[in-house]
Amino acid sequence: MPAPTMDEVVALCKRRGLIFPASEIYGGIANTYDYGHYGVLLKKNVIDAWWRAMIQERDDVVALDSAIIQHPRTWEASGHLSGFTDPLVDCRTCKKRFRADHLAELSCGLKPSKHPGETPECDLTEARDFNLMFQTSIGPVQESGNTVYLRPETAQGIFLDFKTTLQYARRKPPFGIAQVGKSFRNEITPGNFIFRTLEFEQMEMEFFVPPAEAGQWYEYWMQARLDWYVALGIDRERLRLRAHDADELSHYSEATSDIEYLYPIGWSELEGIANRGDFDLTQHQQLSGEKLEYFDQPTGERYVPHVIEPAAGVGRTILALLCDAYDEDEIGGEKRTVLRLHPAVAPVKAAVLPLLRKDGHPEKARAIYEELRRHVSAEYDAGGHIGKRYRRQDEIGTPLAITIDHQTLEDDTVTLRERDTLEQDRVPVAELVDRVTKITR
Ligand code: ATP
Repeated sequence: MPAPTMDEVVALCKRRGLIFPASEIYGGIANTYDYGHYGVLLKKNVIDAWWRAMIQERDDVVALDSAIIQHPRTWEASGHLSGFTDPLVDCRTCKKRFRADHLAELSCGLKPSKHPGETPECDLTEARDFNLMFQTSIGPVQESGNTVYLRPETAQGIFLDFKTTLQYARRKPPFGIAQVGKSFRNEITPGNFIFRTLEFEQMEMEFFVPPAEAGQWYEYWMQARLDWYVALGIDRERLRLRAHDADELSHYSEATSDIEYLYPIGWSELEGIANRGDFDLTQHQQLSGEKLEYFDQPTGERYVPHVIEPAAGVGRTILALLCDAYDEDEIGGEKRTVLRLHPAVAPVKAAVLPLLRKDGHPEKARAIYEELRRHVSAEYDAGGHIGKRYRRQDEIGTPLAITIDHQTLEDDTVTLRERDTLEQDRVPVAELVDRVTKITR
């Protein structure tokens, strides 16, 4: 089927409680969403898959969970206080505010709506730089000396703990420090669902390398990260690597490439892989006065490591997975919506469904479910027509459905229905855990 529209994905997420607007009873709040039960499970699976690739399957990366609010000098050193800005314009007529570099994608406040600046009534101001960091203050009194910031990226916490980690983890470059956590940006471009939100989870890893090896590790991480999305089941044709032009590069970056996904809004950034050089450690070294270098005893060499950073967004990964998995087909003349999610990320791996709500079916189904859930994320659903229950599971991407019927009580077998092929197989209950765990691994 052709790729879904954003509206179709948004509607499914709302209908099945995966992701929905935050503060809805108050009319919502811009660019902010909540994750419901299945959204939470999906998110957890994505983060687990990332940790698995970063930590479990290698031995040169260690984990960190640093604070969201750090010493304010952090952001002075990192360049965020002076340089982390978006150019904004205001319209004196409709009183709306727009990102000057996004005008071609935005609608102006007048009707019929065109792009800002395109109607004769539009009266845009000159662009002004607007800092994207959220400010707050420590202590009961709001004074200028107390100002702190919600982190706009998780990376800086990693640089602040570089020395401590180097000491306790007994690593030498090349080695990495990985972290998953919330970041905050005062984004003003509305729309596009969870693509751009005020708060979002990042999965970032700073890989510290000898300066001469930076180029080769940059290439390595671009390929490794692209392969990770393909392994999660995302269509390779809808993924691409795009190198930043010199004028696009962030202040800290020697080279950056984005992994882009073909979202319903067009090719857009899913993850950035940056060669940050020695910018961050050198800056923190200067402002803190702490030496942030590596001393290689055998060679007697002392250097500030260079850093390769793969920086991914959990929300944008989830959006890519959802857009990629969304499909519609027909069963017996009836339209079906199905999320063809890779079993590794599917919120529920198997649903256990008694055909009837009597004749011992629920009791037998419940016993099978309770055994199964010891091994995988499973769900028991006894409510409503069996066809409707299948549809529900298809829409949340459950790869397997297990039905308990009259025959189950006679010969201890169940029907195993496969979400994508719709094949139904008769399986002995004794073999069920084995079959389900193998298929959904
Ligand atoms: P963009 O240019 O789209 O604003 P960026 O280049 O500023 O993104 P980075 O600073 O490289 O983004 O952040 C790394 C990753 O964090 C991004 O690839 C994206 O997945 C995620 N991310 C960044 N900003 C947001 C946001 N406002 N909402 C959701 N995810 C975000």
